Amino acid sequence: HYFETIAEMGHEQVVFCHDKASGYRGIIAIHDTTLGPALGGCRFWNYASEEAAIVDALRLSRGMTYKNAVAGLNLGGGKSVIIGDNKTTNREMLFRAHGRFVDSLGGRYVTAEDVGTTVEDMDFVHMETKHVTGIGSKSGDPSSVTAHGVFRAIQASACQKWGSDSLEGRTIAIQGLGHVGYYLAKELHAAGAKLIVTDIDAGRIKRVVDEMSATAVALDEIYRAKADIFTPCALGGVINDDTIPQLNVEIVAGAANNQLLEDRHGDALEARGILYAPDYVANAGGVINVYSELTGWSRERSLRKADEIYQTVLSVFRLAKDTGIPTYKAADRVAEQRIQAVRGMIKTW
Ligand code: NAD
Repeated sequence: HYFETIAEMGHEQVVFCHDKASGYRGIIAIHDTTLGPALGGCRFWNYASEEAAIVDALRLSRGMTYKNAVAGLNLGGGKSVIIGDNKTTNREMLFRAHGRFVDSLGGRYVTAEDVGTTVEDMDFVHMETKHVTGIGSKSGDPSSVTAHGVFRAIQASACQKWGSDSLEGRTIAIQGLGHVGYYLAKELHAAGAKLIVTDIDAGRIKRVVDEMSATAVALDEIYRAKADIFTPCALGGVINDDTIPQLNVEIVAGAANNQLLEDRHGDALEARGILYAPDYVANAGGVINVYSELTGWSRERSLRKADEIYQTVLSVFRLAKDTGIPTYKAADRVAEQRIQAVRGMIKTW
């Protein structure tokens, strides 16, 4: 019942693509283009079934609509998946095929890197279409913009919880010190916060301990660390039945995607009185950086846009409080309100 499913989920278009010569089998899902072209990465994965691939494309493309809308960007939501072994060396033919299908949509969908795809793959896509971002010649590392946005989300959460956005003397437990985690740790340290950190990579821990006098803990100790804020910057699904009872903090705000294992874990945080800054609002710096590539914004302008995440997070908290819903649901409402407002404008023109 795919028509029923996409009608229910709100998708505009789902395209099945096949290229015999390269063996390319791809699905491009365009969820909503009210705000602009549908932007979202291309995931290359050996899905257990075709249905799993379709469900992933539908779910991820809808997620991009919300992320782009809340970030205040003139972009809709889309996503593509390629079914197959992402270790294949047959990349040029495969990604040029992807590029031709993307091009056939005339700019309604803009593709980018995602799980299983690389900058080099996007360079192949670029041989066939201009509707691609994250290509080698243009893209900069988005992590510092993402980290800055998360920093602003943390400040907004502090303001909401404690009436001041100062992080001076606050203790922050960071899980994951990779690209985003490291930049974020630097900003938090500069703001006077004390850091408790963990990572699976000892070298990354040492760098932060040496440079920022952070305290290192074992991987599974980060959840029960006595701190003011827990900041997930590694994996998804870390807010779950197992970890929520361990948390010893008042705020959860970080960069990782899909922090809540299931929606109900957002309700469970709320029930424990822990304020949750919804992940896709906090980490929108990544997509802001992509947008800057499309529009030619400077890094300064991207950072200014990421600054606005502070106000966006506060508006999510305000809506949650006013309507008595958990913050993760309020984020979706903020996105829906923006899309509805723009739809209204289109009608009156
Ligand atoms: P990264 O791979 O550079 O860093 C992740 C870090 O987490 C690594 O240092 C890794 O060793 C560590 N890690 C892995 N498993 C761990 C575990 N079990 N416990 C503790 N540490 C562990 O990735 P990144 O680019 O810094 O992104 C971090 C998160 O933020 C991801 O969830 C990503 O999807 C999300 N995100 C990133 C961006 C961006 O601009 N890079 C944008 C939006 C969202």
